[in-house]
Amino acid sequence: MQVITLGTGCPLPDPDRAGPATLVQAAGFNLLFDCGRGVLMRAAAVPVGPGGFTAVFLTHLHSDHITDLNDIITMQWAMSFVPTALKVIGPVGTAAVVDRTLDMLRDDVGYRVAHHADLTWEPIVEVTEVRDGVAFEQNGLRVLAEPTDHRPVEPTVGYRVECAGRAVAISGDTKPCAGLDRLCAGADLYLQTVVRRASIEAMPVPRLLDILDYHSTVEETADTAARNGVGTLIITHPVPAPPSGSELAAQWVTEASTGFDGTVVLADDLQRFDL
Ligand SMILES: [Zn+2]
Ligand SMILES: [Zn+2]
Repeated sequence: MQVITLGTGCPLPDPDRAGPATLVQAAGFNLLFDCGRGVLMRAAAVPVGPGGFTAVFLTHLHSDHITDLNDIITMQWAMSFVPTALKVIGPVGTAAVVDRTLDMLRDDVGYRVAHHADLTWEPIVEVTEVRDGVAFEQNGLRVLAEPTDHRPVEPTVGYRVECAGRAVAISGDTKPCAGLDRLCAGADLYLQTVVRRASIEAMPVPRLLDILDYHSTVEETADTAARNGVGTLIITHPVPAPPSGSELAAQWVTEASTGFDGTVVLADDLQRFDL
């Protein structure tokens, strides 16, 4: 199993970090978790093309996690030679967002169908909404979903990929909660979107301070990792993002390591983890 952090950014535009997106390659599948800004550019570097995703899993419907879903829908469709469904799995509400996205794309779809004689069909998106339990199972690989706590954004889910005796927990934005603990229990790898309280409190901007309400801080993330005996903690979507390789980036890792004995990595885009 290979985990690739395609995008490690947050809503704030960053020249070095694409929006949140993580690729898991296992059992011949390409499983994409969230599809933030620039996801297809980063996937092209792997390389995985727009038609290469076995399924797209969404943790929640905040814009930074789904900005480029429309790009995936368009390119998966426009680059296909036979009608092929795009599988999208996400929390309740995903079907409505996909419907509205298709509505937004209607003009473009019309232009392309009118222009290309061999493109006679419209995008086909198969949506499965999940609350908990098995979200995907094939070839000995299983993806489990659990509810997470990103209130007032709800519902939200996290995922756990299990294959060949290894497990990866992929959480979106959430506070520590029982569902997150179930995803993380004994996982080899735990990927969490994280905020750093001291950095945010140093910027007295109410709209930034608000994000402390519904994200895991560095300390909380380390606690979740320790409590559940995970092997490696991967910090992604850091807010505010420290420059890569900076002293502040090292500080994030040091702080997380205070509460957790395992390996801690503050991920960059396109970092690969082999399991
Ligand atoms: Zn986010
Ligand atoms: Zn969010």
